[in-house]
Amino acid sequence: MKTKIAIMALVTLLLAGCGGAEQAASDGTGQAAPSQVYKWKMVTTWPKNFPGLGMAAENFAVMVDRMSAGRLQVKVYGAGQLVPAMEVFDAVSQGTAEMGHGAAYYWKGKTPTSALFTSIPFGLNAQEMNGWLHYGGGMELWRELYAPFNLVPLAAGNTGVQMAGWFNREINSLADLKGLKMRIPGLGGEVMSRVGVEAVNIPGGELYTSMQTGVIDATEWVGPYNDLAFGFHQVAKYYYYPGWHEPGPTLELIVNQQAYASLPPDLQAIVEAAARAVNQDMLDDYTARNNAALNELVNSHGVELRQLPDDVLAELHRVTEQVLEELSAADPMFKKVYGSQKAFQEQAVEYGKISEEAYYRARELK
Ligand code: CA
Repeated sequence: MKTKIAIMALVTLLLAGCGGAEQAASDGTGQAAPSQVYKWKMVTTWPKNFPGLGMAAENFAVMVDRMSAGRLQVKVYGAGQLVPAMEVFDAVSQGTAEMGHGAAYYWKGKTPTSALFTSIPFGLNAQEMNGWLHYGGGMELWRELYAPFNLVPLAAGNTGVQMAGWFNREINSLADLKGLKMRIPGLGGEVMSRVGVEAVNIPGGELYTSMQTGVIDATEWVGPYNDLAFGFHQVAKYYYYPGWHEPGPTLELIVNQQAYASLPPDLQAIVEAAARAVNQDMLDDYTARNNAALNELVNSHGVELRQLPDDVLAELHRVTEQVLEELSAADPMFKKVYGSQKAFQEQAVEYGKISEEAYYRARELK
């Protein structure tokens, strides 16, 4: 079987090498083989082979190639190889590349509503976010939002609850946030800026150096598994939780609308299935590896693990609601999407009390 796939892939590759779309060989079953090979480019907001987040893009490309027996080949470009990280949205929208991988909240300058498809501070966790997107109307709203940009969005990765971030100063009160220069994108950044933080967005690949040289005093990134790989413990002393700002952040795969429409239905189905698989796979990866990574950070590297004080979290929550109300008042689409997610969350919170929350409590009882 493996040999057959390898041979088919080789034949397809050789044929595809002649041009964008070629006739593929018969598959030997006597049935007419699917005729066209699609060679696509995927631009990403991550450096090539970026641990964790970037691997979703790589895994997607491998999966699609296998599932389509080489009929859809996606070449993944790291940030800056074809276009810079923050130009992924435009590049796919204009068709420079057929696909892109990143996070919707990077595009809040295009439309503030995009941030709601990554994560809302104090909002849905990963499980709830996936429920809202795939069975709660979220995906339909996302497609509506991106249609004017000539893009089809898909969820393609989720890290689960993140950490609040790495700090080079202790946060014991709200006053300690004043004047702090922190990398924190999206709505979390907007909230932080309202409590006196100088919030900036810097691409992932530049964060370590920015912390090391003191360009920033703090950064959020992901969680122990990813952050350990980055070596943030070498440039920051305190590691704060919980990730109030990103409780279940979704990564996105964006597809150029014409490119997507040009695919036959089976390849469209493969793109959707692979995105869905990658979306879950990332969560599984983080779930499996965060615990050991945190252990190593604390016990081998002497990282000081700290919880953000309750009064700081309460104020951040209060400001979050204020920001969300303001953005809703200013933008009908934002209001519509936020309204949908808020209604979903109200129910999820109630059910969570008697399911996950009650179970977490129950498992501590002996
Ligand atoms: Ca993050």
